Amino acid sequence: MKNNINWNFDNTYSRLPDPFREKINPVKVKNPELVMLNKSLAEDLNLDFSGLDQAKLSALFSGNELPNNSRSIAQAYAGHQFGHFTMLGDGRAVLIGEHISKSNHRYDIQFKGSGKTAFSRNGDGRAALGPMLREYIISESMHFLNIPTTRSLAVAKTGEKVIRETQLEGAILTRVASSHIRVGTFQYIAARNKKGELEMLFEYVIKRHYPEIESSKNQALDLLNVVLNKQIELVVNWMRVGFIHGVMNTDNMSIAGETIDYGPCAFMDIYDPKTVFSSIDKLGRYAYCNQPIITKWNLSRFAECLIPLINGDQDKAIKLATEVIDTFEKKYEEKWLGMMRNKIGLADEDEKDKFLILDLLTWMHKNKVDYTNTFCHLMNFQTQNDIVYENNEFSNWKKRWQERLSQNSSSEKYINLMRSVNPLVIPRNHIVEDALKKANQGNFEPINNFLKILSSPYTDQKHITEYQIPSQSDENYQTFCGT
Ligand code: AMP
Ligand code: MG
Repeated sequence: MKNNINWNFDNTYSRLPDPFREKINPVKVKNPELVMLNKSLAEDLNLDFSGLDQAKLSALFSGNELPNNSRSIAQAYAGHQFGHFTMLGDGRAVLIGEHISKSNHRYDIQFKGSGKTAFSRNGDGRAALGPMLREYIISESMHFLNIPTTRSLAVAKTGEKVIRETQLEGAILTRVASSHIRVGTFQYIAARNKKGELEMLFEYVIKRHYPEIESSKNQALDLLNVVLNKQIELVVNWMRVGFIHGVMNTDNMSIAGETIDYGPCAFMDIYDPKTVFSSIDKLGRYAYCNQPIITKWNLSRFAECLIPLINGDQDKAIKLATEVIDTFEKKYEEKWLGMMRNKIGLADEDEKDKFLILDLLTWMHKNKVDYTNTFCHLMNFQTQNDIVYENNEFSNWKKRWQERLSQNSSSEKYINLMRSVNPLVIPRNHIVEDALKKANQGNFEPINNFLKILSSPYTDQKHITEYQIPSQSDENYQTFCGT
């Protein structure tokens, strides 16, 4: 293979011993065909694929031809899935290496859908085209919404069928992440009860992600604290744009604080705190409004893993960890309130703001109004479904809001603030589905047009209105796991 791509691998995770990973190559595929390549991300990573023809690109992004210095592995991890603990691991993904960009950032390059590994259990190790494209669209959209996330570099069809409820086209997604270390990675190692292994993972994570706490007095406690802060930041961002992850198991929570594992996720149209899209989430464990509390639950599982490292005296360690976990509500509440204040253009604080915000949300809920478009309306950005905003109750709310605004900010300032946090466009479910349907039929134009719009969600763009129409039948929209 021509080697002017600029891969710059330094595969530290691969150098960790058993049981952290299994050394394994992607399973070759029959007839690879590259269908998506993220050129702007490639540029950010200082990767240049322009010297490769379609066949070479397809061989590369299907895992049929690995780059020279890659050391491909499947990572071990465990997880609480809907509350139940299981030993898992990369059952259908391999990390081909850690690429260092010019700016000296380290990125995991992972193939998802790359065949069986030691962790596959009963799975086939493969993924279908639709879900991989779905992850591509939504993760890229999250990035441009300014939300920490893994990203998508490429999708290649495998030329093989995967059997789900029906036969589907197989595909491999190339995922880029700060790392794929999860709360579940700690759980896997902690469950083995070997302090040396736990220390090794712990030191690895601090060195890779949080070197700023290398010199702190109680590193383990500080790690818990920084991960807690990162996760609060993340979930507040999800709440800001109406994102529902759908499967917030501990194996899907990144230690680096990125949104990871786009399975049955979706964006809420009509504001309803209880919104759930995932077909398997019958009890609504991962509903929109439960995301903060589940984040705290997952962080508590993380804290449990760290106990032996926090203090030699277990009771003391538990007490210290609990104190950190107990800061969650107050910190979350403050961050959430700050975020919601920004959404309605308030740059300063008044103790009555919370009521103003909650009244708006209650009105949206009661009247089944679109979440994203309501903020567009408040920014004087007209979307199609505007009649609802002539409602009396809403007019009264607006009067209160305008009085509050007039306390200090100038009109231009508050609009600028709102425009920086309220997206004009999100990946709406019916548009995602339509783009996937067309791509499955071989037409990638809709997906590419959509991605272009999603790459500037805070900017007015030509044709934007067609992407702002809420789904007509959102209440019945379901997303599926087993992707
Ligand atoms: P996910 O739902 O993608 O977060 O995956 C949960 C666990 O199931 C992970 O350990 C995956 O590697 C594994 N898994 C999901 N789909 C497959 C598959 N088709 N084959 C093997 N393992 C899978
Ligand atoms: Mg997962």
